[in-house]
Amino acid sequence: MEQCDVTGLSPRKVAYLKYLYDREGTARTGEIAAHFTIDPSTATKAVRELSATGLVDHQPYTGVRLTGKGQECAEFLVRRHRILGLILSHYGLDREEACREAERFESYVTRDAINKMCESMGHPTRGICGTISHGQGCGIDDH
Ligand SMILES: [Zn+2]
Ligand SMILES: [Zn+2]
Repeated sequence: MEQCDVTGLSPRKVAYLKYLYDREGTARTGEIAAHFTIDPSTATKAVRELSATGLVDHQPYTGVRLTGKGQECAEFLVRRHRILGLILSHYGLDREEACREAERFESYVTRDAINKMCESMGHPTRGICGTISHGQGCGIDDH
């Protein structure tokens, strides 16, 4: 499967995709708006932009759903967050700080860098805020 290019995603969109991933891929725009305390029209606009890039499907009555590509992308975004969180927690930050600090800069870290760190850490399966899956392109299948 083609890897999703995550470098152009804004921190906000990264957060929406991670949220959908944690909800097994689906949510209503109203739920997204409530979770992020944003205006429903802002959520709708973000969903429209994400669906234009093929990462989510939006059906008026069933809600927002990650596509196959969106799922792969979101899995990486969650792994990136949790790998960076683990690194920060190894260097003195408590769980909550590590989670919060990772969110401040994770959008700028490339997939290649994460894969290298993931490998050097032995592909950890537990992060500070949940499990880590090592799917597409992590290198875990090469061994
Ligand atoms: Zn976290
Ligand atoms: Zn890995």
